Amino acid sequence: MDKFGILKQYFGYDSFREGQETLIDCILDGRDVLGVMPTGAGKSLCYQVPALLMEGITLVISPLISLMKDQVGALNGAGVHAAYLNSSLSQGQYRKALEYAKTGRYPIIYVAPERLVTRDFLDFALNARISMVAVDEAHCVSQWGQDFRPSYLKIARFLEQLPARPVVSAFTATATKEVQDDIVRMLELERPQVLTAGFNRPNLYFSVQSPKDRYATMKHYLDCHPKDSGIIYCLTRKTVEEVCGRLREDGFPVTRYHAGLSDQERQKNQDDFIYDRAPVMVATNAFGMGIDKSNVRYVIHYQMPKNMESYYQEAGRAGRDGEPAECILLYGGQDVITNQFFIDHNQENEELDETARARVWEQDRERLKKMTFYCFTNECLRDYILRYFGEYGENYCGNCSNCLSQFETVDVTKIVQVLAGCVRSSGQRYGINVLIDTVHGANTAKIRQYRMNENPYYGELSKEPVYKLRQVLNYLLLKEYLRTTSDEYLLVKLTEKLRPVLEEQETIVMKMVKEQEQAPKEKKRKRRKTGPGAGLTEADELLFERLRALRLAIAREEQVPPYIVFSDKTLVAMSRAWPKNKREMLAVSGVGEFKYERYGERFLACIKETNPAGEK
Ligand code: ADP
Ligand code: MG
Repeated sequence: MDKFGILKQYFGYDSFREGQETLIDCILDGRDVLGVMPTGAGKSLCYQVPALLMEGITLVISPLISLMKDQVGALNGAGVHAAYLNSSLSQGQYRKALEYAKTGRYPIIYVAPERLVTRDFLDFALNARISMVAVDEAHCVSQWGQDFRPSYLKIARFLEQLPARPVVSAFTATATKEVQDDIVRMLELERPQVLTAGFNRPNLYFSVQSPKDRYATMKHYLDCHPKDSGIIYCLTRKTVEEVCGRLREDGFPVTRYHAGLSDQERQKNQDDFIYDRAPVMVATNAFGMGIDKSNVRYVIHYQMPKNMESYYQEAGRAGRDGEPAECILLYGGQDVITNQFFIDHNQENEELDETARARVWEQDRERLKKMTFYCFTNECLRDYILRYFGEYGENYCGNCSNCLSQFETVDVTKIVQVLAGCVRSSGQRYGINVLIDTVHGANTAKIRQYRMNENPYYGELSKEPVYKLRQVLNYLLLKEYLRTTSDEYLLVKLTEKLRPVLEEQETIVMKMVKEQEQAPKEKKRKRRKTGPGAGLTEADELLFERLRALRLAIAREEQVPPYIVFSDKTLVAMSRAWPKNKREMLAVSGVGEFKYERYGERFLACIKETNPAGEK
């Protein structure tokens, strides 16, 4: 069998995705590779397909037990003998698995990096024929990365001990050059083929909102998507508790995850989520690495995360199956302050010396600023993300909240002059909120206390809505007409760039959402259906729901996550095609021989029942 045969027979797919084929060919040629591909791009297949074509054993090194479990589960589900060796096995189970491994039962073995240099494992490895070592999540070897694992440093030592050097393949979703260089160096890759696949994820819809009532906005979204699985990220444990509690009271099937819970509860809640017993997860950023759940239909950030790297990684957990999915960020001014607090009180860098710590601090501040600008920009959100990661996007993607809003160009010079006047006349001693309250003429205790009600610009812009003033001020910060101090007070200061505007030699125009658009915008979105049912006829949709129910029933019987039976994408394809027999069923993307043997009949029966006349 060749690579296409393997792809079809075991995984049920007809074609490779961007980058996969190149990497597979290189590996089969005996060359080391480094694959840099975004989350959901399909990195696993890049080593699994060659593993099944090569003689001997492929060892896959993976940082997390849950990741291994998930992948081995998926491989077994596709009819491949695979096993994992990590600390979740008892002594007895571990010995047994090693025994089997020695008999050559498993072409693919997942192993935790800590195990590599243990006696038991070496005893096996030195006497086996190991044709490839695949390092998943390879950025864990780099101290520059976000998830440095010291145990990854053992990999190179392990490789040196093997009698014959296997092909080494490494995979990561981290794009920065430093990390990539580190991977090549620390894993001692030999003249590797480095392949970077595009970071764009066209199936993801991006949206930023700054709602008055975040909870209501999020609840409304969940009400509109009752059957979907999603993740809601919060910045703090406390918010996770609050949001999860309220949603539970409101009757949603939610669970929670953060570092303050016991290991046991975390494991249980994670499983509830993966098995769709609790399809909505409320979590801090502690949740997610190692989650390969492919049918996550939305990721809502209840608060703004600390940088774009975190955002894209977390948001990227939506739509791994390639079907439409939504990434929604709910922004509030307080988020910046919360993140700043985290950065200022970061304990992780205690080992660094003074200068290094200052550099990290500055870097973190800078990243937070770029994240904040993402929330303010009126340009294409996808374009902003891709540029951040050093790619050129297009100015218009047509699948983000900015591209779908109608903007008008507004001359805001007058507003700018008043704002700037207010900053100057008050000695550049105040932050954003006080300034806006002043020009808007708010009569609050704080304003009176600071005597800003006596400022010459007090109430000068009382006719403008506050949100508009905020947008203008944010725009001025984004374009560096103003800046904020980097201490905790975030005082607003004027910059040189503003001078020509104040001297009336320059005007400032900016894009603003058309006023009558503010409300209908959401409506328009609602009609534009997304999610797995998108683009299906009514009859197709009915079938899809039935297939989904059947999948859940099977998953419960077999105690596997539903997406291991079939992905959402495969069910959608089935609902479009209405296969009537084995041949037609095998033509559906995601249905391989093995899966057909296991589930084909039941799904065919369900389709027949839904369409008794066979007219479709
Ligand atoms: P990554 O590790 O890069 O984040 P995965 O390997 O977990 O991504 O793959 C994500 C999803 O894409 C999985 O559901 C996988 O089955 C699917 N997939 C991978 N390659 C293909 C392909 N060539 N055709 C269709 N689906 C694919
Ligand atoms: Mg992966």
